[in-house]
Amino acid sequence: MRKNIVKPGADEFHYEIREIVAVAKEVEKKGLRVTWENIGDPVAKGERIPGWIKKIVHETIMDDKSYAYSPTKGVDETREFIAEMTNKRGKVKITKEDIIFFNGLGDAISKVYGLLKKEARMIGPTPAYTTHSSSEAAHADSPPFTYILDPKNNWYPDIEDLRNKVRYNPTIVGIIMINPNNPTGAVYPLKIVKEIVKIAKEYDLFITCDEIYTNIIYNKTTSIPLSDVIKEVPGISMKGISKEFPWPGARCGWIEVYNQDKDPIFKRYIQSIIDDKMLEVCSTTLPQMVIPKVISDPRYKEYHKERNKIFEERANFAFDVLKDVNEIIVNRTNGAFYMSVIFKDGILSDKQKLEIEDQAIKEYIEGITKNVTLDKRFVYYLLGSTGICVVPMTGFESDLNGFRLTLLETDKEKFEWTIKTLKEKIEEYTVT
Ligand code: PLP
Repeated sequence: MRKNIVKPGADEFHYEIREIVAVAKEVEKKGLRVTWENIGDPVAKGERIPGWIKKIVHETIMDDKSYAYSPTKGVDETREFIAEMTNKRGKVKITKEDIIFFNGLGDAISKVYGLLKKEARMIGPTPAYTTHSSSEAAHADSPPFTYILDPKNNWYPDIEDLRNKVRYNPTIVGIIMINPNNPTGAVYPLKIVKEIVKIAKEYDLFITCDEIYTNIIYNKTTSIPLSDVIKEVPGISMKGISKEFPWPGARCGWIEVYNQDKDPIFKRYIQSIIDDKMLEVCSTTLPQMVIPKVISDPRYKEYHKERNKIFEERANFAFDVLKDVNEIIVNRTNGAFYMSVIFKDGILSDKQKLEIEDQAIKEYIEGITKNVTLDKRFVYYLLGSTGICVVPMTGFESDLNGFRLTLLETDKEKFEWTIKTLKEKIEEYTVT
């Protein structure tokens, strides 16, 4: 190339959830059956979409309008429906003009951070869902700013840490929150969400809150939407249907903007998101047309009640099996469908191994575990020895060694085997 065409921030793009797939595919090619525990796709894990939702999609697809472009911000009736849902809670007032649709929430996330001024930084959680941390870091051509989620305190944000980092880093203009959380499965109590809003107010920041899992909650937990506590602080709630319907292949997510009239700079920034979206014309039309019909159907609530009960059973089974393993820290998952397991300090070394029967797989795993983080080493050995494919915690912008698994396995026997095998292999691996 005549000139270097690579953006300095290009090194900030990481997505271990999919990067681990290349390793697992190699193991699979060598003859081992892989148990895919890496990606949060309920459909790929065998969840069946209710017939009545499919029927609504089917009816909608027969309408020629679903093949057309939609308005840039999204289908008017759908945005009206969503604004009304938020307004019903009565804490903030929005109109359809505060709602913008994207091609999946992942698309919204990269636009929201990508359109910030380069020097303006957002602080986000560690461990992080890397679509947030990588997009934000790439926009700034710098590593992400992070605040701690504490595994010794139910994975709740460490408010002191957040406050200090905001106080001493004047480049920070906003706080990223993911609630219910990926990758930890934590659901934040009211007090924590209020504290974060308080910091934002005190330092004149805005908040982005990823609420894609807001209706996937259990163990008697309730999730507090940002709209309940934000008051006059500028903020963006991020939502979608990938996990809830579930329909990840629809590529449909949206943002709800709160209090754009309270701050002219924030309002101008939101306008730049809309203007950028206009260059792209619009987002996927069909799923937007489906949303009000599905969500307003009386069967929708019942469907979620049943579905959440299943996640609750799996979460509690996994917690009960793993909680007494001495070498790790685990928390009971209360929302979303992930569980993060952390090895206690000093437990892992670069000498530990798991027995791998197949010679070709053994050689392959030994070859790729030379210069990797200690948790990745465990994850690779686990994969080679059992076929279970989890994601190393250091892949979530974290210094902690551990891994994330999902609670999505629909085959009960296989799910229980996976959890019990994890326990066995952690014990076997850490014995030396
Ligand atoms: N936000 C969080 C917290 C997620 O876990 C995911 C997907 O795993 C996304 C956003 C991406 O959602 P979408 O499929 O709408 O792009």
